[in-house]
Amino acid sequence: MEPGNSKFDVIVVGSGPGGATVAREMSLKGKSVLILEWGDNDPVKGTVTQMVPRALVPGKSMLLTGQALGMVRGITTGGSSMYYCATAFDPPMAMLKTYGIDISLEVNEVRQEVPNMPLSDELMSPAGSCFEQSALELGYDCQRLKKLVFQDKCEPDCQRCLYGCPQGAKWNARNFVDEAMQNGAEMINGAKVNKVIIENRQAVGVEYKHKKGIHRAFAPTIVVAAGGIGSPVILNNSGIRGVGRDFFFDPLIFVLGRVDGVRSGRGLSMCAGVHFPEEGIVMTDFNMPHIMKILFDLEVFRFGQAFSYSNVVPIMIKVRDSLAGRVINDHLIWKGLTKADKQKLNKGFTHAKKILENAGAKNVYKSWYLAAHPGGTVKIGEHVDADLKTKFDNLYVCDCSVMPEECGLPPTMTLLGLGKRLAKHLLGEKRVTINQASDKTVANNLPGDEEKAA
Ligand SMILES: Cc1cc2nc3c(=O)[nH]c(=O)nc-3n(C[C@H](O)[C@H](O)[C@H](O)COP(=O)(O)OP(=O)(O)OC[C@H]3O[C@@H](n4cnc5c(N)ncnc54)[C@H](O)[C@@H]3O)c2cc1C
Repeated sequence: MEPGNSKFDVIVVGSGPGGATVAREMSLKGKSVLILEWGDNDPVKGTVTQMVPRALVPGKSMLLTGQALGMVRGITTGGSSMYYCATAFDPPMAMLKTYGIDISLEVNEVRQEVPNMPLSDELMSPAGSCFEQSALELGYDCQRLKKLVFQDKCEPDCQRCLYGCPQGAKWNARNFVDEAMQNGAEMINGAKVNKVIIENRQAVGVEYKHKKGIHRAFAPTIVVAAGGIGSPVILNNSGIRGVGRDFFFDPLIFVLGRVDGVRSGRGLSMCAGVHFPEEGIVMTDFNMPHIMKILFDLEVFRFGQAFSYSNVVPIMIKVRDSLAGRVINDHLIWKGLTKADKQKLNKGFTHAKKILENAGAKNVYKSWYLAAHPGGTVKIGEHVDADLKTKFDNLYVCDCSVMPEECGLPPTMTLLGLGKRLAKHLLGEKRVTINQASDKTVANNLPGDEEKAA
């Protein structure tokens, strides 16, 4: 099909929280949307055998980087939100405002549309309650965290949350994709986008691989939402240079200890937490399936501990890391932890150890490093403007890659707000703009604009 004959108003590449929101909002307003998604769209079973090929394939969904640190991403409809913990941290509003972006209105709309309440006592896991109680006893400001969970559908004794939730209790980006499709959007799964087709400085379509063939699809507006790793790779292939450098991925460790009689192992993760905003450390409970614990234990040679499970209380320490590293291609990233990153993780370990020992834990130890929120690879202020537009007209980016700075907190609510805001922009609707945006807002200062003017 040639550009002029496109049957779609917009092509969205990737169906994680960023892409799914844009697709939903555009389709709600009667726009025809094509979603191109690399992964499958099979119904969620909530099994380890289904999760592994979508989230743990080395060089695809599990990218190994320096220091043997593994970085996980979900390659399936819904992206990483299929395997996330569904904790709804508030967006970094003040930071975004310094870049000329105010998503308060959009985030308020999101809060009406997705569940986001702290978990009830009945649904708190035994390990989560143990962590919460011990932290409070020691005087930590431990709060119940808001969850993107339909609590009436959640089963307290289940441990399949991290494998994907077959009960539909965990809100994920598929909820928005489903709505988009009910409104007429089309989705092609197994479609891996290679590049955006640029003609006369306009994005006119995309080239993608599907069933061993190379195909093209055309639309007047293209939104790349392939996530913190996928988007810079596509943009680089499309002639946008300098993307994919100096990114964050929120490294984490687990701290584990045996507390006799706690009967842990089941229930949701990240339900209560302590945040140290100045230090960039967040500490939460983290119930994990036994197989995951065995893998983490073997990684640090804790062979003896690997088979203890029901009396183990795991705590997660996640930190705001320094911007560093490079996305080399879809299979390879490079980013080591700096001395400062490790110091933060160690500081978190000291807090967690204290909390576990106060709860009566013995044999407290920590896991190896892991990361799960890659972002800042196509930064607002460097590669996209405050409207999330690249240097090419009609080519936008909407996912975690646009985050301009490291925040150290799970970003889903921010991405839903940014997705809504971008849809309003594309639809020409009114939205909050900030006139006093600082110099960091580069609407008129994108790479390539000089050439354009010339
Ligand atoms: C284990 C885990 C726990 C987490 N817990 C939380 C939490 O509690 N709270 C929170 O807010 N966040 C959490 N997160 C992070 C959150 O899930 C991600 O930040 C979020 O999903 C990122 O959304 P995104 O739109 O940027 O991209 P993604 O979710 O990464 O989606 C990108 C999509 O693009 C597709 N894609 C990639 N490349 C291509 C291509 N070339 N062509 C076509 N499609 C492509 C992928 O298959 C994927 O579907 C967690 C993440 C993980 C892994």
